[in-house]
Amino acid sequence: MKHKYLLFTVLLTVALSTSAAPADRFAAVKIKAQHVSGSIHMLEGAGGNIGVSIGKDGTLIVDDQYAPLAEKIITALEELGGDRPKLILNTHFHGDHAGSNPQMGTTGTIISHDNVRVRLLAEEDFPRSGLPLVTFDSDLNIHFNDETIEVIHLPTGHTDGDSVVWFKESNVIHMGDHFFKNRFPYIDIGSGGDVDGFVSNVEAVLAQLPEDIHIIPGHGSLSNRADLASTIAVVKATAASIRDALEKGKDSADIIADLNKNYPTWGSGFITAERWVQIVKADTSR
Ligand SMILES: [Zn+2]
Repeated sequence: MKHKYLLFTVLLTVALSTSAAPADRFAAVKIKAQHVSGSIHMLEGAGGNIGVSIGKDGTLIVDDQYAPLAEKIITALEELGGDRPKLILNTHFHGDHAGSNPQMGTTGTIISHDNVRVRLLAEEDFPRSGLPLVTFDSDLNIHFNDETIEVIHLPTGHTDGDSVVWFKESNVIHMGDHFFKNRFPYIDIGSGGDVDGFVSNVEAVLAQLPEDIHIIPGHGSLSNRADLASTIAVVKATAASIRDALEKGKDSADIIADLNKNYPTWGSGFITAERWVQIVKADTSR
């Protein structure tokens, strides 16, 4: 079991690592910009969604996708009237969210939770320019483009270094990978992630969000509060049913078949029903 879990972690790490991704995989990727609310835009390309604030103080981005996309991202920012980002916030360390850090960090300041820097430092040959220069422990306020930006750390959820970024005046929150819209989530148990922590983190954020908030998910299209609430309800319910079935000695293949029957589209993303069962199993068997 432990061996299986290790292999699973290695496979996922390879899938997320920027160095393992050939550049041509990104050649056809187009960066699509969408206005969210107030002064905030969202960029979609490959990897995690990017939040953007452009204004009098310059350009700020939340996450920066994969390294081969850095120049395309900067072009998209210029098309929105911005320039190379002055501030880069990382919601967490995964390569599909922090992969362009080395390019962005040559001209901008990268800011993250303490553990993002720790985990990037642990990656072999990660360029120094991609490391966060400013790190924080629990939360941080940034004042930029007439916006109060609250960066709030969520402990042991998707990883042990995740944050959400809340643009107070524009009424927009970037949830990072605590939100895979209408999909089973990836929870990186090998990097301090935790299934119950993931659920309680999202529930705690939800309790604070106004009804009319605009939500940028880590993965998936622009969302509202009801989307986040319904997604975390499914995460919670399926995690409980997987645990219950495992406890009763039910076969994994049957658990996966049930998930696919009851939630037919939820395993169509990065995390299939099989992977979701593996994550819950790994989480439970620690
Ligand atoms: Zn992630």
